[in-house]
Amino acid sequence: MRKQIAAANWKMNLTYQEAENLLESIIKQAGNLSDNREAVFAVPAPYFDMAEDKIANKAHMYVASQNVYSKTSGAYTGEISVGMLQSMGVDHAIVGHSERREYFHESNQLLADKVKTCLDNNITPIFCCGEALEVREANTQNDFVGTQLEESLYTLSAEEVQKVVIAYEPIWAIGTGKTASSDQAQEMHAFIRSQISAKFGAEVANNISILYGGSVKAANAKEIFGKPDVDGGLVGGSSLIADEFVAIIKALK
Ligand code: PEP
Repeated sequence: MRKQIAAANWKMNLTYQEAENLLESIIKQAGNLSDNREAVFAVPAPYFDMAEDKIANKAHMYVASQNVYSKTSGAYTGEISVGMLQSMGVDHAIVGHSERREYFHESNQLLADKVKTCLDNNITPIFCCGEALEVREANTQNDFVGTQLEESLYTLSAEEVQKVVIAYEPIWAIGTGKTASSDQAQEMHAFIRSQISAKFGAEVANNISILYGGSVKAANAKEIFGKPDVDGGLVGGSSLIADEFVAIIKALK
């Protein structure tokens, strides 16, 4: 069975002390995760060490970066390299979150480079895709997401793409309290898997975890995660509340 993943995206929130308390509380309440389940914490970069420390003895828990750069070193002030992540034990990175695409103008091509750099350096990329409201209203979401996949993932080999975690995050559902219905999520996840299958084969497509993101909370996680092609969630707001995120972890298949 492919991995079922609850990934927390804390974004630019929480002081060090708040982050420490939150992580402690989540870890304590979550207990032990079974083999096919993972919890990933995309904490602010200054908190990597603290977070690594907290999850040190926990199986199936990982720390992620919220961003990573495509170049491996050099004069790129403020950027985070894969080598920096590796040297701190951080083994996942979110790539292409819609906030990075929108506010920092990250293109599909740049994201292709970032994904490749991650894979070349044993960092698992959590690759985000998803359409804006006007695209959904025009009913062109499949074309839009299909192009995002094509331009950022299709130069990878089948072996490489299998290591990518995909997060489908309709922009109109992120931080808005508006969730895609579980049927809308399933429909898009099945489409994404069919595209991957057409390009890389059914076995590869079957092994890839596809997470849903967009106002996931304790109250809707079970229904959304229950859909056959939804393999967990990438969670913003609700990951900042221990009880909520623990319930989301427990809602994984
Ligand atoms: C996100 O930031 O990836 C996200 C899905 O946020 P929220 O859960 O708050 O909608």
